[in-house]
Parts: sequence; structure tokens; C-alpha cells
Amino acid sequence: MSRNLKVAIIGAGMGGLSAASALRQRGIEVHVYERAMMLGEVGAGLQLGPNSYRVFRALGLEETFRQNAFEPINNVSLKWDDASVRFREPMRGPMIERFGAPYMTAHRGDLHRILRETLPEDTFHLGKICTGAENHGEAAVAHFADGTSVEADVIIGADGIRSAIRAQHFGADKPRWTEQMAWRCIVPVDCVPKAFGPNKTTSIARNEYFGWLGPDGHVICYPIGNGDMLNIFAGHVSIDWVEESWSAASTKEELIAGYAGWNEALLEIYSNVTHVFKWGIFDRDPVPEWQTGRICLLGDAAHPTMPTLAQGANMAIEDGWVLGHCLDNSRDDPGAGLRAFVRQRQPRTARVTLTSRQQFANNRMVPPPPPIDRSWIFDYDVTTEAA
Ligand SMILES: Cc1cc2nc3c(=O)[nH]c(=O)nc-3n(C[C@H](O)[C@H](O)[C@H](O)COP(=O)(O)OP(=O)(O)OC[C@H]3O[C@@H](n4cnc5c(N)ncnc54)[C@H](O)[C@@H]3O)c2cc1C
Repeated sequence: MSRNLKVAIIGAGMGGLSAASALRQRGIEVHVYERAMMLGEVGAGLQLGPNSYRVFRALGLEETFRQNAFEPINNVSLKWDDASVRFREPMRGPMIERFGAPYMTAHRGDLHRILRETLPEDTFHLGKICTGAENHGEAAVAHFADGTSVEADVIIGADGIRSAIRAQHFGADKPRWTEQMAWRCIVPVDCVPKAFGPNKTTSIARNEYFGWLGPDGHVICYPIGNGDMLNIFAGHVSIDWVEESWSAASTKEELIAGYAGWNEALLEIYSNVTHVFKWGIFDRDPVPEWQTGRICLLGDAAHPTMPTLAQGANMAIEDGWVLGHCLDNSRDDPGAGLRAFVRQRQPRTARVTLTSRQQFANNRMVPPPPPIDRSWIFDYDVTTEAA
């Protein structure tokens, strides 16, 4: 009989939680160590493609996920200045027909909770700041700033773009500044003007996903939760980002000033903002190796990606599923399981990272070309590919 494994995951983000949930589903003992004192996510939305929807389905969470997420009916692209419609394409029907799973939008906090609730409370160890990890023969040990350590068969660094485990084992190089920053905020859906644009001919239904594309920015708006709230991602080209931190409080006035000259309907939506944060967008060049012995990276720690294809968290969720599968299949040799995991995930995530950069470059062209086709991302069924 193959033996049971103990896995320690550093970081309770979307990647760490998906991995923990997938491992537990397979009966593997898992513990999650998080530096924050409370579990949660930033107050913003997330887009989830058919590819990560399939993971929620395989985790037995499809119904709960659907109850907490929104399925936009159309994708509408607007010109930044006059708000004329560049294109309006149906999402709801065609996504299911083509990919067998929907494209959904949700509040990050809801998704985080859904994954968290698959795990017993004693899985989580809070206020644990990981300072590094090392291989110890047939095991690995993670160390924490409070002087404690934990030994496990496998240590997973799911500790985000500035991963301590990555810096220790795979190079302490800094993330790459992408020349994009973004404001993120949530407003009531009802604040979208009823009719705007040329001769007031543009209108957006409450259940549509819509975006504005201009030469120095790109704004995406979509309903979340039960559809009453609208999540706004306001991307902006910015040569110099001087903040030390990569997320900081901002103001409505700063947001509005960043979009001077854009269509007044967008500025009217912005006038309803109460809380807004700004983020510097960073990524890293893809690297071939995320594993050393019994230690391995996952999610943004391994492959941080620009949000231009909205796939960073989707990739982290896919990673979690594949990790569960690979370690389950290799209980007697977890190092081999980790190697199989990296072999399967590295090429796909590298392609997503580089295509996300290309989409950002395309968005800056005048006029911008049509969006890059994402069907190769959505088509992929990680739950059967892994098998
Ligand atoms: C503006 C913006 C919009 C985005 N929109 C989308 C989208 O629509 N769709 C999508 O798929 N992706 C999107 N992304 C990308 C997505 O947010 C990330 O890819 C995803 O959150 C990565 O998850 P993760 O679990 O790997 O890392 P993180 O979410 O960064 O989680 C890392 C966790 O590790 C903890 N941690 C860090 N260091 C330590 C330590 N030393 N010790 C212990 N714990 C530690 C952190 O507190 C955190 O809880 C967006 C990103 C940005 C910036």
C-alpha cells in the first residue's frame, strides 16, 4: 500500500488554497501557513474562464461556485473617447457550447471562502511568515520568522510574486515592472448611465461585461456577486512607478485625473467610487525550474503574469489541481511527483505569461488589433489532461 504524505503549503492565496483542497480531496494530509493574521482576499473581482471552472467542478464545488459567481451575457468593447461600440459578442451561450463550461466573474473574497470551506480549520496556521525552506534527505523543512519550523514530505511555496522560497532557491532577482498600473474598485451596477456615446446610442445591460480601450489605458467592468455590484479594473500605462509597495490606497480624484479626456460616461461611473486602490503590475520571465528536491513553487511564486488575459489566478487554480494529481500518483517518490508537476505546468504557464505581455503590447497599438484568441486557454481541460 502506498504511504500517506504530509504537505506544507506556504501562502493561503488562490493557488495555495486550490492545492490544499485538491490534496485533501485525495486524502493527503495538508497544512497551510499564511503570514496574515486573518484569512481573506483583496476586495476586488476576478474573472474565471472555463479552464478553471472545470477545476471547481472536479473539486465538487460547481454548485457553490455558481451560486457565488456571475455569468455575463455579452462582452462589449467601447472606444475610450466617444464610447462607440467596437464590438459586442455573446458570452453566455457560446462559452458553454464551445468549451462545455462558462466564463464567470466573482468577488475574490467569495472564491477564497468557497475553497477555504473545503478544509478543516486546523489546516490553517496564521501569522506564520516563512523565511525559507530546505531539503533534509527524505523530507523538507520550512522556517518561520517566529523561530518555529515545520517538517513535511513536501513544501510548496505558494507565497506569491515576492516569494521567499523562490528568492532562496531560484534567484533573488526582482519582479519586472511592466509599465502598467491599475486602479481597482467596486461600484453599484446602477451607476452605469442608461444611454451614452454618439447620439446616446450606446447602452450597457446590467448583465453585460464591458471594457474601454484607449491608447494609454484599458478599463474592464463586470458584475460580481448577485450582479448588483460592478467590479472595475482600470489599467493605465505608466512609465515610472515609484511606490515601494505594490499596492497602495488611492483616491477617486486621482483615478478620475488618470482618465482625463476619456468618455464622460466612464468618468461618471468613477464619480461613484468610495474606496480605490492602485497596484503596480509586475511579472517575471518564465523560468524552466520551480522544483528542488522536496520543495516546489506554485501560482504567482512560479509564474507571475500580467492580468491582460485575466489568467494569473486561473493558472494558480489549475496548478493546484495538477499538484494534487501528481503527488497522489507518486506517493512513494514525492520528488518525482513534483518533477511531473513542473513538466506539465511549465510550458502552458510560460505561454500564458508571454501571451499576456503580447496582449498588453497590442492594447497600446493605434488602432488596437482585435483581442488575442484565448480558445487554446479555455479548451484545455486540466482535470483530464492531468490524468
Ligand atoms: C489588478 C489585478 C487584476 C487581476 N485580475 C485577474 C483576473 O481577473 N483573473 C485571474 O485569473 N487573475 C487575475 N490576476 C492575477 C491573480 O490575482 C494572481 O495570479 C493570483 O492571485 C495568484 O495567486 P497566488 O495564490 O499564487 O498568490 P497570491 O494571491 O499572491 O497569494 C500568496 C499568499 O501568500 C502569502 N505569503 C506571501 N509571503 C509569505 C510568507 N513569506 N510566508 C507566509 N505567507 C506568505 C500572502 O499573504 C498570500 O496570502 C490579477 C492581478 C492583478 C494585480
